[in-house]
Amino acid sequence: MSECIFCKIAAHQIPVKAVYEDEHSIAFADVNPQSPTHLLLIPKQHIANVNAGSAEMLGHLLKKAANLAERELPDGFRLVINTGGDGGQTVHHLHLHILGGRPMTWPPG
Ligand code: AMP
Repeated sequence: MSECIFCKIAAHQIPVKAVYEDEHSIAFADVNPQSPTHLLLIPKQHIANVNAGSAEMLGHLLKKAANLAERELPDGFRLVINTGGDGGQTVHHLHLHILGGRPMTWPPG
C-alpha cells in the first residue's frame, strides 16, 4: 500500500518518535492529540480496519495496547478503534487510539 501513511510510518519512511516497536507493530504519538497522552498502535502489515484483522492478530494488538497503556497511563485510559464513516475512521489502516492523562467523558462525541 504505497500511498498509505501508516504503512510509510511502519516502514520508517515517515519518521515518528516510537514509544513501542516490535516486529509486527509500532506505537507513536498522534499528531493531533485529543488528550494529554494520545498514542496510536498500528500493525505493520496493512489491514484496512478491525473487520479485516484475524482474531489472533487483533488479540495480540489489544494486549499490547493494554500493556502500553498500563505503563504510560497508570490512572486509567481509553482504547478506541474508529471504523468506517460513521465511526470516524480517516486513516484506512487499522489503528488503536490509546487516550489518557485526563478524565474521559461519556458518551463520546
Ligand atoms: P482515525 O480518525 O481513527 O482514522 O484516526 C487517525 C488518526 O491518525 C488521527 O487521530 C490523526 O491525528 C492521526 N494521524 C494522521 N497522520 C498522522 C501522522 N503522520 N502521525 C501521527 N498521527 C497521525
